[in-house]
Amino acid sequence: MAVQEKVQEKIDVAIVGAGASASVFASVLARAGKKVVMLEQGPDWQNGDLISSEIWGRRLKTVNPAILEGKDRLGYSYNAGWGSGGAATHYFAMFPRLLPSDFNMKSAYGRGLDWPFGYDDLAPYYDRVAQDIGVSGDAKAEERWRPPGQPYPMPPIRSFRHGDVWLRGFEALGIKTARATVAINSQDYKGRPACVYDGWCNAGCPIGALANPSFTYLEEARKHGAEVRPFSTVTRVLTNDKGDRVTGIEYYDRARQRQVLQADVVILAAFVAQNPRILLNSATGKHPQGLANANGLVGRYVMAHTGATIWGMFDEPDIQNYMGVLAAMHWSYDRYDKTARPGAFGSILWHCSPAIKPNDIGGIANSRNDLFGQPLVDFIKRGSRQLSRLQAFGEELPNPDNRVVLATEKDEFGFPLPRINHAYDADAVGVWQQACDEGLKIARAAGATESWALRAAPPTIHMVGGTAMGRSAADSVANGYGQTHEIANLWIAGVTLFPTEGAVNPTYTMYAASLRGAEHLAANWGTIAG
Ligand SMILES: Cc1cc2nc3c(=O)[nH]c(=O)nc-3n(C[C@H](O)[C@H](O)[C@H](O)COP(=O)(O)OP(=O)(O)OC[C@H]3O[C@@H](n4cnc5c(N)ncnc54)[C@H](O)[C@@H]3O)c2cc1C
Ligand code: SF4
Repeated sequence: MAVQEKVQEKIDVAIVGAGASASVFASVLARAGKKVVMLEQGPDWQNGDLISSEIWGRRLKTVNPAILEGKDRLGYSYNAGWGSGGAATHYFAMFPRLLPSDFNMKSAYGRGLDWPFGYDDLAPYYDRVAQDIGVSGDAKAEERWRPPGQPYPMPPIRSFRHGDVWLRGFEALGIKTARATVAINSQDYKGRPACVYDGWCNAGCPIGALANPSFTYLEEARKHGAEVRPFSTVTRVLTNDKGDRVTGIEYYDRARQRQVLQADVVILAAFVAQNPRILLNSATGKHPQGLANANGLVGRYVMAHTGATIWGMFDEPDIQNYMGVLAAMHWSYDRYDKTARPGAFGSILWHCSPAIKPNDIGGIANSRNDLFGQPLVDFIKRGSRQLSRLQAFGEELPNPDNRVVLATEKDEFGFPLPRINHAYDADAVGVWQQACDEGLKIARAAGATESWALRAAPPTIHMVGGTAMGRSAADSVANGYGQTHEIANLWIAGVTLFPTEGAVNPTYTMYAASLRGAEHLAANWGTIAG
């Protein structure tokens, strides 16, 4: 039985979440004259709320509980966001693109899944996003690895000695590098100032040099009338009696009161754990396994990136490791070939180096968690001017058993929590181990006097997947625009749509795919919204 609701409010588009992908859809649809409401579980952060401090930065992390299981449990609370801007309020804005080989892995290699479109379909949107939000980089140098496109609107950001020290090592191993592309202003851009290189990107960039959604697509959406409704927790999508249309959403407001919002189109943009959870929690008699889940694929193919992390101590008075951004100054796709490593399939992306703080996750103290007392103090003193970090993201292939399901445990409103199982397979672990080995060689060739890799277990960096897009209802939840195969006016946005992940940070691709999807929805509004 579909749930019958007393109508309280009727709008054109209800978007669940006010994060990165939600902001793109809201901006395009509000500009097209639609009445858009974004239901956001967390606060509506204002730019003045952002404070450059590790402790404060933790307030931007999710408060949404999830049960985490499996051999390589996901770092869910680290990776997810809370409040307007979502995880992109405190992301690092490193902006690599996927390469053409990432889009057709099943056809080309018989591994993973194919995307429902190719690099060439997305390329114009990559170029437009760069202009929209402000991206700094050297497109010509990057074109060594990818098809040509438009130049980036700003030159690369500044480099500092703690990034440049690795270049000797790359060169010695024959690995070509380029200046990294980042969504950070190297110059004033569209009324936002240039970066001051203080390395507080993880606490949200209070001056707006980093393109977080609140300064870009979300601001644009608000200008055109889109509303963010903070502290609104969406629990279910509602459907009509026939089960062939969604009619709106159910949510709990800041007073913990249940509300219903009717909408012609519903877009789920609530990140990896919550998009599948809401679809599964919305089961009705017509959709007994949950919405858009007749094929049982909702929740499957959740992925993360491994990270081969190499630390190096350099015998120089001051490599200025306290300066810079948290993204990267240099990177290399030279080892991206998925078949380059014996016995382990998948890509890697080398990048260096982030500004480092004394403590917290990427801090100096945590780079040697075997040290205590005076040896730790001595190490931090030396590290404060001589330590640098090199990293390779490693690809994980989509695995149907890495998935979100409903737990028996419930949230405060009585709805099942998400339970997420995740384990890396032998390919992901093999790629990570070989990257660790190569990273140590790079460090030695770079002249590091001490170098070590963090090898206890592969970390889980980024999270994508859970509602994969594809060409047909037989193999995916949504089409290449984000429209679910089962219900025309139910859409999905964000990194949850990724069928594969390559070895790159996901947000540039996610923005480009969202822009493509949102413009398709706006252009076909009459047939989709009914
Ligand atoms: C520390 C860190 C560094 C990162 N660095 C980079 C980087 O350098 N480059 C890069 O490309 N990517 C980076 N990322 C990843 C990037 O932030 C995400 O890929 C991106 O934000 C995902 O966008 P999204 O729209 O799918 O989800 P989000 O932007 O997270 O938005 C989801 C929103 O939905 C809301 N929500 C969830 N459940 C509900 C509910 N039931 N009701 C209402 N609202 C709900 C959440 O509060 C959140 O605001 C980083 C992430 C982190 C955490
Ligand atoms: S380093 Fe640059 S982008 Fe990062 S918080 Fe500081 S000013 Fe913003």
